[in-house]
Amino acid sequence: MSDVNLADFLERLRSYDPDLDKGKVMRFAEIAKAFPHLPPAVARRYPRVGMADFAEIGYCAYKGWHRGRGTEVRRPARTAQRVTRGENIHARKVDEELQAARKLPVATPTDLRNPMVDMASIPELPALIKVGGLVYMSSVERAGRNKGDLVIMEIKTGKWVRMPDHYLQTWGYCLSAPSALLRLTDNNFRAKAVRWSLSYPESVFGPYGFTERTLKLVREGMRLFGRLYRLGAAADKHVPHDPYGPSGRKCPPCGFAHDCSWRYTDERTGTYTAAGSPSAPVVLRLTRDGAL
Ligand code: SF4
Repeated sequence: MSDVNLADFLERLRSYDPDLDKGKVMRFAEIAKAFPHLPPAVARRYPRVGMADFAEIGYCAYKGWHRGRGTEVRRPARTAQRVTRGENIHARKVDEELQAARKLPVATPTDLRNPMVDMASIPELPALIKVGGLVYMSSVERAGRNKGDLVIMEIKTGKWVRMPDHYLQTWGYCLSAPSALLRLTDNNFRAKAVRWSLSYPESVFGPYGFTERTLKLVREGMRLFGRLYRLGAAADKHVPHDPYGPSGRKCPPCGFAHDCSWRYTDERTGTYTAAGSPSAPVVLRLTRDGAL
C-alpha cells in the first residue's frame, strides 16, 4: 500500500457527493450474494472488528492501526460524555420504535417475499460478514423496505454532517444488512435495490442509491483498513501518511491520543496536545533532543 493510494482514497472519499452520483444502484440480491452472513462459530476464527471501528479511518487512518494494535481507548471526559449522550438518545429511539412496531401487523412470509409491501424499519439489526480476512460486526441502525428497495439508515446525534466516517459506516451496513435480513427471515426477505440515508438532529440526507461507486469506495476502504489493522497488530509503524489525519481539532478528543505517535504537534510551540481533561488538555513539552 503506497502513500498515494491512501491519500488518493481519502481524497475521493472526502469529495464524494451522493447528489452527483448517477451510477448504477446495486441490487439487494447482488450484495447478499457477494457478502454472505458468517455463522458466529466461523466468525470466531478470525479477528473481529466493529463496522464503526472500520469507519474511523475516514476520521483518521491511524485509528485503523490502533485498532489492530489493541491500543486502549481512553476517551477524555468531554468525549465520553458525548458518547454516553448519543448512546442514551439511541436507546430511547430504539425503545420508542420497538413500541410502535409492536402495534403493526406482523409480516407474513408472503409479505416478506413481496418487495412492494413496505416494511417499518427494524432497529439494531445484527449482521456479520467477512471481508479480506477480517470479520465485520454490525448492528445496523435501521433497515426498512420502501417502494421495493431496502433502505439503510444511520442516525448521528452530533453536529457534524456528511463526514467521511459517516459514509463508510453507513455503506458498511449496506454490505452487511442484506444477508442478515435473509438469515433472519428464513431466506424470505426480498428487495430490489439498496439505498442509504443519514439522519442528523437537524436534517436527513437521502435515501440515496448504494451505487457501484459507493461499493468501490467502501471495498477500497476495507482493504486499506485491513492493511493498517495488520500493521498495527505487528506494531509496525511504517504506515502511509494520512494527510487529513492528525489535527488540532481531531486529536484532543481522540481516545488513542494518550498513546499515539502521530498525534497533532503544534510546530510553532513544539508541544504535543494529548487527550486530557477538556478544559485543561495535557501538554507535553519536547526536550532539546526531541524526547518527551
Ligand atoms: S491521536 Fe490524532 S493522529 Fe492519533 S489516531 Fe487519534 S486522531 Fe489520529
